[in-house]
Amino acid sequence: MPSPDGHSAEAAASLSDLLGTNYGAMRRLLPAEIYRVDLAAEADDVPGRTQWFAAGSPVLVVVGVDDTEVKVGDPAVRWDGHTPVLHARRVYRLPRTLARADAASKEEFDRELEFLVRRTRWLRMRRFRRCHECARMTPPEWRTSPDLCQSCAERNHGVVH
Ligand SMILES: [Zn+2]
Repeated sequence: MPSPDGHSAEAAASLSDLLGTNYGAMRRLLPAEIYRVDLAAEADDVPGRTQWFAAGSPVLVVVGVDDTEVKVGDPAVRWDGHTPVLHARRVYRLPRTLARADAASKEEFDRELEFLVRRTRWLRMRRFRRCHECARMTPPEWRTSPDLCQSCAERNHGVVH
C-alpha cells in the first residue's frame, strides 16, 4: 500500500478535477493527505478502469472514479505475508451523469458525495481502538490484539512480525 509522498498535491488536484469540484471544497471534504492507490480488484470491476485515491494515513476513506461512476469505499487492509493489501469493505456509487447535468443535479451530487465520505470515514474510525500501552488510536490492521498495537507488541513484548 503506497504511503503519502510528494505526489499528494498532484493526486489532490487530479481528484478535484475528476469530481468536477473546486479544490478548496474538496480539501474541506477530504482534509487528510490524498494519494493514489491500487485497490485489490473488486469482483465487478475491470482492473485498472477505476482511478483510486486514498485519504489519510492510516487511510480513512478511498474514492474511485471511472467513466460512469464515483465510488466511495470503506477501506480495510489485509496482510499478504508482510505486504499490506488495501481493499474496500463496502463501495457506494454515484453516477457521474448527475454531476454533469444541471446546477441542481450537481448540488445533489455534491451533497450525496459529502454524505457518503463523512459516513464512510465515521464507519472506518469506529474500528480504530486505543492501544492500552501507547494510547494511540490504531486501525485493525496495526493491532496484534484488540487493544495492543503492533509497535508496542514488538517493543514491549518481543513479538516479531
Ligand atoms: Zn501501542
